[in-house]
Amino acid sequence: MRKIIVAIDGYSSCGKSTMAKALAEYAGYRYVDTGAMYRATALAGLRKGIITDDEIDEEKLKVMIENLKIDFAIVEGKQHTTLDGEDVESEIRTLEVGNAASRVSAIGFVRVKLVELQQRMGDEKGIVMDGRDIGTVVFPKAELKIFVTAAAEIRAKRRFDELKAKGKEMKMDEVLADVIDRDYRDTHRKESPLKQAVDARILDNSELTREEQFETIKGWFNEARR
Ligand code: C5P
Repeated sequence: MRKIIVAIDGYSSCGKSTMAKALAEYAGYRYVDTGAMYRATALAGLRKGIITDDEIDEEKLKVMIENLKIDFAIVEGKQHTTLDGEDVESEIRTLEVGNAASRVSAIGFVRVKLVELQQRMGDEKGIVMDGRDIGTVVFPKAELKIFVTAAAEIRAKRRFDELKAKGKEMKMDEVLADVIDRDYRDTHRKESPLKQAVDARILDNSELTREEQFETIKGWFNEARR
C-alpha cells in the first residue's frame, strides 16, 4: 500500500489532535501538530516581550522567527514540542498562549515560514498533520483530507474538562466565549482563514464517541491509501 499524506483541519478543541495521533499510530506515520508550532512561536514572542496584550512588534517578530527552532521530541512515548531545544509542551497549552497563537497566526510572514517548515516535513509522505490550513494551503494535494467540526458548547465543555484536569479552574462561560472568539478569528482572518477544502471529508463529532470517530477515519484512510 502506498504512503500518503493525511490533512486534518477543523475548529479549535474539536478533538483533531487526539484523532490525528490515533491515526498516525495505527498507520505507523509521523504526526505533526501545526497548532503547537504557532503556539511555540507565540510563546517565544511573549517571553521576549515582542507580543504584548495590545500589540505585536512585527519587525522584531520577523527577526525572531528566522532564528527560531521549533521541533518535536518524544518524551515517555508522547510527543512534546520543543523551542530551541527546550521542552515547552505544557507551557504552550495555556489559554494565554493559545490566544497569542491565534493573533500571531494571522500574520502573513509567520504563516509563510511555518508552512514552509510543514511542507518539508511532508517530503517523504507517511504523515498525519493537523491544523487549520493543511488541506487548503500546506498540502492541497493530500490524498486524504478531513474537516472536523463539533458544536461550540461541546468543544467548550471538552476544553473546560481538559483545563480542569490540569488544575486550571476557569468559568464555563469564559471558556465558551474564548472558543467562539477563536472560531471567529480563525474563519475571518485575511491570511489562510479556516475553511473546508472542497474535496475534504466532513466529520461532525458532536455526537460520536472516540471509537466511532476512529472507525470512520480508519475506513477513509484505508480507502485513500489503496
Ligand atoms: O490548534 P491549536 O488551538 O493548538 O492552534 C493554536 C492557534 O494556531 C489557533 O488559534 C489557530 O489560529 C492557529 N493555527 C493556524 N494554522 C494552523 C494551526 C493552528 O492558524 N495550521
